[in-house]
Amino acid sequence: MAKRQYAVIGLGRFGVSVARRLQEAGQEVLGMDVNEERVDEAVSYVTHAVVADTTEEKALISVGIRNFDCVIVAIGNDMQSSILTVLLLKELGVKKVIAKALGKNHGQVLDKVGADWIIYPERDMGERVANQLLSPNMLNYIELSKEYNIEEIIVPSWMAEKSLRDLDIRAKYNVSVIAIVRDGNIIISPSPDQNIHNGDLLVVIGNREDLADFSNLE
Ligand code: ADP
Repeated sequence: MAKRQYAVIGLGRFGVSVARRLQEAGQEVLGMDVNEERVDEAVSYVTHAVVADTTEEKALISVGIRNFDCVIVAIGNDMQSSILTVLLLKELGVKKVIAKALGKNHGQVLDKVGADWIIYPERDMGERVANQLLSPNMLNYIELSKEYNIEEIIVPSWMAEKSLRDLDIRAKYNVSVIAIVRDGNIIISPSPDQNIHNGDLLVVIGNREDLADFSNLE
């Protein structure tokens, strides 16, 4: 993977998770926070960390913020600082600004000041938990649109040792198997003769309702 430069502003729980993961994946990460203690802690898990109030333009200019591929604004409860920071970043010409919103109104303002991607961690996590409760066999999903998802589903045991052709999944359940995850390996575009094993995960694409029916098979 090409090495890219990221800046994470606000080293609270959310910002720390983003920064750590990017750093673990070999990316270059600058952490920024007004709180000196948080910056001191960050030295152990990011490439560089600086104390800065990012609502001040000169603080952003002095770290050369324009040169970063992506800036993540993870300022938590201080809505005013989050909005002003995003505004300055866009004015300074940062190409990709990702910002965390506390709620709908905050998100709308972040959109108006130019945030390229707005994240609602609590709303999204709440939805994920509910979806998981509704479909216990579903481990993970990607929302492709309002109607279509890709989901990772644990196969019910009665499917074991049958082939995709025998199970006739597409015709019977109106979803398509695009991959099988077996013992940590992935079989992409499995052939119809591929047998399913106990413990396999199926990666399936389809309409959300059809997927819900499929993932609730006992
Ligand atoms: P979380 O809910 O993710 O834990 P927090 O509200 O605890 O979020 O963390 C947000 C972080 O953003 C804090 O460490 C805070 O010091 C930092 N922060 C707030 N305002 C600014 C600012 N103007 N410039 C830089 N960092 C800021």
